[in-house]
Amino acid sequence: MHSDMPKVVTRFAPSPTGFLHIGGARTALYNWLFARHHGGDFLLRIEDTDKKRSTNEAIEAILHGMKWLRLDWDGDAVSQAARADRHKEVALAMLESGNAYRCYATAEELSKEREKARAEGRNFRGDLWRDREPDEEAEKQPYSIRIKMPRDGEVTIADAVQGDVTVKNAELDDMIILRSDGTPTYMLAVVVDDHDMGVTHVIRGDDHLNNAFRQYQIYTAMGWTIPVFAHIPLIHGPDGKKLSKRHGALGVEGYEEMGFLPEAMRNYLLRLGWSHGDDEIITTEQAIEWFTLDNVGRSPARFDFDKLDNLNNHYIREADANRLLSIFQSALENNVGHALTETEASRILRAMPALTERAKRLPELVESASLFCNTRPLDLTENAAKQLTEETLPVIAGVANELEALTDWNGSVIKAAIMAFAEAEALKLGKVMQPIRAAVTGGKQSGDLVETLEILGQSETIGRLRDRVAA
Ligand code: GLU
Repeated sequence: MHSDMPKVVTRFAPSPTGFLHIGGARTALYNWLFARHHGGDFLLRIEDTDKKRSTNEAIEAILHGMKWLRLDWDGDAVSQAARADRHKEVALAMLESGNAYRCYATAEELSKEREKARAEGRNFRGDLWRDREPDEEAEKQPYSIRIKMPRDGEVTIADAVQGDVTVKNAELDDMIILRSDGTPTYMLAVVVDDHDMGVTHVIRGDDHLNNAFRQYQIYTAMGWTIPVFAHIPLIHGPDGKKLSKRHGALGVEGYEEMGFLPEAMRNYLLRLGWSHGDDEIITTEQAIEWFTLDNVGRSPARFDFDKLDNLNNHYIREADANRLLSIFQSALENNVGHALTETEASRILRAMPALTERAKRLPELVESASLFCNTRPLDLTENAAKQLTEETLPVIAGVANELEALTDWNGSVIKAAIMAFAEAEALKLGKVMQPIRAAVTGGKQSGDLVETLEILGQSETIGRLRDRVAA
């Protein structure tokens, strides 16, 4: 793009009839990135005209999801419903200029016409009143306003993702733009709002591609500049079929609850339908720098939880330990049944590099971090319980004595003491380590055992060992 082009304005226009699903989140992300790449504006419009299906909870969920993903929008979110008067004004202007007409047909007449068209194998156009003047009787009846679609020719839209797409005008119906109750239809409202908000690029799911041709005619009728359209292929499940709940068709908050970090989610959504060479890990700065519509794929992307997990592991490892601790503080407190003490928090912070090594989702991290909290006596997993036998309990008791005698507490002296004990008892090191691990971790996933003991501290370690001997 050249610097002399007008300021780029994009928008995300969700209908608040449900949660912010990941397809919508990806659309929002692409609009955001495109605007930021060009130093333009990214606007948010809540398409709340369907009063029956729109809810405040859904609006809240959308705003929350956008904030969680750190997709900041410029200016205030616009309510489409609040602009109904303006939509009506445009419908009347189209009526005035002869690009629209009044339709007095009743629902019954229209459904008859629909059937007739079907029987005759032609498109239903809803154009019963296109070339008809109302008599005095009809004039008293309620009417809707329909657009007068051109009948000849065709329109080619140079879609920035799909390429040139052509539709014959004869295939378009004289759609209603203003209902008989004076409310605008979606098709009209979208165009009026995009125009008034100065939107230069309409980036959205390709389920709206057909609408673009109908919307095009409203722009033309009003003499407005047609924005660049970019219709992104939808997201499919790993099996190539429509995305189902099991495959990840959840609200963004569902991913937050599952323990994904927003930056992982963003990186994942970015790559789900857009690419930059072989790059998989892409920072926000790089994404802003690199994002163009040319690299949006033309075929549906497949959702893949394994990839998302791997990315999440990457970002968990990169994340600041204090941030992770505060993200999962309440979950952790729930897990251990008390508010974290300073000692526990500092143990967890020390253990963080090891804890994050393999963690794919935050709950796993919470689970393994709880190992460093004072929760004696520990509950044992079945496997850990099996490690504690007549044969191993004396080993545990012996090691506890050795460790208690240490005047210094660090990895090398702990290791040396355990090795000396094994040697004195003529036991293989594994035969000593295994029961210690079982007693100290209760069978929870843990990293290097000596490091775990070091971080736990002398008295907690000895306490955990002796709990088993006394049990
Ligand atoms: N409100 C529409 C939807 O949620 C989007 C309209 C548009 O992007 O043009 O599907």
